[in-house]
Amino acid sequence: MAAPSHRPAPSTGGAPQAGPATPLVALKDVDFAYDERPVLRRISFSLEPGDFVGIVGPNGSGKSTLVDLIDGIHQPGAGEVLVKGVPTRRYRRKDMAREVALVPQHFDLDFDLAVREVVEMGAYCLGKDPAALSDPELTLARLGVADLASRRFSELSGGEKQLVVLAQALMQQAPLLLLDEPASALDVSHQLRLFDLLKELNADGLTVLCILHDLNLALHYFDKLLVLSDGEVAAFGPPDDVLRPEVVEAVYGVRAYLHRHAGRTYLTFSPRLRGERRGRVHLICGGGTGAGMMRELADAGYEVTAGVLNALDTDEETGRELGLEMIVEAPFSPVGDEAHVENLALLRSADLVVVSAVPVSHGNALNIAAAREALAAGIPVWADEGVRAGDFAGATDGLAAAGVQFFAGEEALLTAVRARSLPGSGRTTAVGAAAARVAAPPEDDSQPEGAAT
Ligand code: ADP
Ligand code: MG
Repeated sequence: MAAPSHRPAPSTGGAPQAGPATPLVALKDVDFAYDERPVLRRISFSLEPGDFVGIVGPNGSGKSTLVDLIDGIHQPGAGEVLVKGVPTRRYRRKDMAREVALVPQHFDLDFDLAVREVVEMGAYCLGKDPAALSDPELTLARLGVADLASRRFSELSGGEKQLVVLAQALMQQAPLLLLDEPASALDVSHQLRLFDLLKELNADGLTVLCILHDLNLALHYFDKLLVLSDGEVAAFGPPDDVLRPEVVEAVYGVRAYLHRHAGRTYLTFSPRLRGERRGRVHLICGGGTGAGMMRELADAGYEVTAGVLNALDTDEETGRELGLEMIVEAPFSPVGDEAHVENLALLRSADLVVVSAVPVSHGNALNIAAAREALAAGIPVWADEGVRAGDFAGATDGLAAAGVQFFAGEEALLTAVRARSLPGSGRTTAVGAAAARVAAPPEDDSQPEGAAT
């Protein structure tokens, strides 16, 4: 008995045939509505034999409906859905089952069967020739669940059922496998095993179209991604081109950040969208002292800018991941006059300037000078008191007297910023700021000589 094989086999029966250059699947301007409510609009794309494509998109965007259309379960209201060049409505169910195997999102069984029988049912479309059939036990073994064969299907967990239904679909030996969120109930080990197996099957010639929610799995496993948004194709192409943060933000309404680590790309998310403008904060930081605040403030909806930072500095890298506007100096170089002037211009558009506990040397003392200019321009400057302890250039002397407010560390500073009133006012909400502000010991030089009281 053979393990599942997915080389497109010559058709044995009445299945419609198509020429060699025909895509395996083609959708042309497809519209679909349940009753009167439109669900898919103007969908066009095609799959070539050997494609390995993921479908992503928000809940309700029409993903399940789309794969059901390809399997011929629904017929389009307008446009065409072709499998091997032939409209799906021209297939009988059994012929379609030889071309397309679907692992649905939801599955129920009316009968209480043993797992082995459930898996065997997948081969119904292949007729009765035992030599042509795959071995259900081997198929289960390939999914890492050989031990389930003699269990009752009804007694399995959701994840186990998912794998059994996949085994059933593989038994069809169809050249195209459609999967509708096959990993949704799987633990991480079975998830990775599943996607590795799909890749293996794909290398053997199986064409795979798989709906999934995990955008990082989508980035890593698939050759191409189709992004559905509100019933339309928002993007279709290589994952790196398609899952750009701006696309993710537009489609899902969350903030998305791209990170590169060890040669791979990762996406992370936060619930707030850019543009929920709570005010503009300019950070003076460096060496990683500002990275946490950058992320926190950006996530909280502030428009964050920073400078001057050295290229390749941890804060500069974080700012780049977050897509922040920054003034950047060459790596390991002192802040030059040109960068300083640009920094002043950027900082003047801020509602608030925040200074992290950045170590200050002659290399970045100009950034502290920039903070003084901000004060002179009427922009409040709030600083982590750690900046004074790490000042090796004397640049922070007299800052308190000049009007800088100091806070006991990053948390206190962030609490105060969050409690601050809306942009433009330049004023703090008394309670929030007072709660977080430090009763900092006066600086040695903070009292002008001869100051009374
Ligand atoms: P997705 O798989 O992307 O979550 P679906 O294709 O399941 O989206 O559903 C798309 C839209 O169609 C949703 O608004 C859903 O409520 C609706 N829908 C899905 N199935 C049916 C149905 N059988 N009858 C009516 N509306 C449906
Ligand atoms: Mg769905």
